[in-house]
Order: sequence, then C-alpha cells, then structure tokens
Amino acid sequence: MEKTISILGSTGSIGTNAIQVVHALGKEYQIDYLSANTNADKLIEQALTLRPKAVCIADEPYADKVTAALQSESIEVFSGRDGLLELASQKADVVLNGLVGSSGMEPTLAAIESGIDVALSNKESLVMAGKLIQEAKAKSGSKIFPVDSEHSAIWQCLTGETMDDVKKLILTGSGGPFRERDVKTFSTITADEALDHPNWEMGKKITIDSATMMNKGLEVIEAHWLFNVNADDIEIIIHPQSIVHSMVEFSDGSVKAQLGVPDMKIPIQYALTYPHHAPSNWESLDLLTNSELTFHAPDFERFPCIQLAYDALKNGGTYPAVLNVANEEAVYRFLDGSISFTDIPRIIESACASHEYSDDPGLDLILQIERWTKEFVVNFRP
Ligand code: MG
Repeated sequence: MEKTISILGSTGSIGTNAIQVVHALGKEYQIDYLSANTNADKLIEQALTLRPKAVCIADEPYADKVTAALQSESIEVFSGRDGLLELASQKADVVLNGLVGSSGMEPTLAAIESGIDVALSNKESLVMAGKLIQEAKAKSGSKIFPVDSEHSAIWQCLTGETMDDVKKLILTGSGGPFRERDVKTFSTITADEALDHPNWEMGKKITIDSATMMNKGLEVIEAHWLFNVNADDIEIIIHPQSIVHSMVEFSDGSVKAQLGVPDMKIPIQYALTYPHHAPSNWESLDLLTNSELTFHAPDFERFPCIQLAYDALKNGGTYPAVLNVANEEAVYRFLDGSISFTDIPRIIESACASHEYSDDPGLDLILQIERWTKEFVVNFRP
C-alpha cells in the first residue's frame, strides 16, 4: 500500500535529504504536501517535480509568487503561519517535521492532534512542549518516529526491549569544531569558524548549536520526552568520529549501540520505513577505514550550554521553553555579529533566571513565554 508523506521544511537540509530518500524508496512512497519558509524558488521547483496536492510558503510576502507559479498546475497553495498549521493537519500517513527551531512546535502539535504520525527532526518541539505533545499523543494515538540520529539510534537499540530493563541512555556527540580549541580564545570565535562542522552537513542553526554543544543539551531533553527517561539517567559521551550514533545500557551491564556513517538519510529513511530497514544505496559503513573509535567525557566548563540544558530539564515547567528560545535568538544574534560566542550561554542563563516561572504551562503560556524570551534576548546588552 502506498504511504503518503508531508514534508515540513522541504527546502532545508533535512527536507532535501528526505526528498532524496522518498525518491530512492520508489513508487510506494508519495509526497502529498510540502512546506518552505522563505525559499519560494526552490519550493516551486520541488512542487513542479514532485506534484504534491498542496504546498505552503510560510513567509507571506512570497505567497503571490508561489500562487502565480502553481495555480495552473492544480497544486493548492497555503501561506503564512495558519497555512502551515493547516498543511500540517492534512491527511497523510506521516508528517516529516524538518522545520528549524521553535517554529516547528505548533505544526508538530497540529499533526498529532489530527491523528497523524510524525517523523520528528525538529527537536525543539519536544524541548518547548514535551508534556503537551505527550498528552496530545495519548489522546489521538499518533506516534513520533525520531529522525535525530542519536534518538534514532536509541530507538533502534530499544527494539524488542522493555523500558524497565534500561539503566541509562548514552547520547554520543562529536564535540563540534571547538573540542580542542583553547578555551581562552572562545570569545573571539567567528560565525564562519563555528559554521565549519567536522562531520555533519547541516543547517546554520543546528551547526552553531553543535559548536556550543547546546545541540547535545537539547537532545538530552528530547530523549527525556521520547523515551521517558530521567535527566540523571541520560549521559553524554564525546565521540569525535560520529560513527556510534548512541547507546543504551541495560540493568545487567549489557550495552547496545547503533553504528553507521554520519548521513541523515539513514535515520530519515528508517523513520519512514519503520519497522523495516528498507534496501538503499547510501554509503555503507566500512569499519576497516574507520577503525579508530574514541570516547571522551564532555567538558562542562568549556561548554556551559550542556549544564544549562540539564538544569532546565530538572527545573521543568517553563524552563526548557525559555532555554530553547533564548538559545535560538542568541544564535541568530551571534550569526549577525551583534554578540560573541561566549555571550550565548550567558544570555540563556540570564533569560532562564529572569523569566516568570510556571510549572505546568499550556500552549498559550508557552507562546507568551516565547515572545517574552525573544524580546529579552533582542534587548540584552552584552
Ligand atoms: Mg542529533
């Protein structure tokens, strides 16, 4: 039977990889919906090739251009924030959420509330609103299939196991480009240096998150919500080669790991073909040319974002949402050159400490907190 797919963020790094995966999987997989934020030209090109039922351009000023290009092609065009939520709710077997940052949260909720399964790359959804998403899942019966490579690894390691037997989750991380740089020079790190990741080709936001290691911190929170494991039982191990994608340790001391080349097409494909590992032509792992696999403890002094994320998870309530939005806005300020690399954790810490805490926020409060935090970061004088 044909499987229908919506791709949110189709012009980004995850989206374009997902289109390649679906194309390679063949006729049994059909892309029915696509969304992009601002890249109208690429969205139009994708639509003319893939012939979806509808597309959404989230950035309103581009709506006329996309409509003009697709109206005679019988491809419906949605636009804006509301259009994106409407597109995310359209009937499909799975919504692949490859959106960047906190803007991915509401589309995840919209898909789940509509009873659609979500292949989730947008970890910020769970960081912002993990509890709400779990509640919505329980109501609608939708599932989340992790796309993030570490969580895909853990998911695969947990296949056939019961959570009662799990002692801890071990998230691996490459350590990013500054693993060995003199920490005294961190305040002079430029955006170009931070954007140069040693192993993974990714979008800008996640590449900076990898350089600060906030990405790993967000992944701890993501793992907590995906697998219902406490912060104290989620460990981070630095593994510069990015071959072991993560591990699970069981009560008897047995450890399972999942390995592969660092290529997002593999976890994307598994999220779409689960519970099967479908044949593919992606590069396969050669352990003889990757024979050195090393592991180190994470450096919490060098990368304060990791501790900030653990603290936000332990404090709970509105903390993770503030952490996430403050990080996102600080990353954009670092990219535009208005703050330094070392200001990123300072701003996040300050936002978390200054916000008005609530222990069980609903969607409205989370959106309100999002606006407050954005303003806090924009006005922050380093
Ligand atoms: Mg990851």
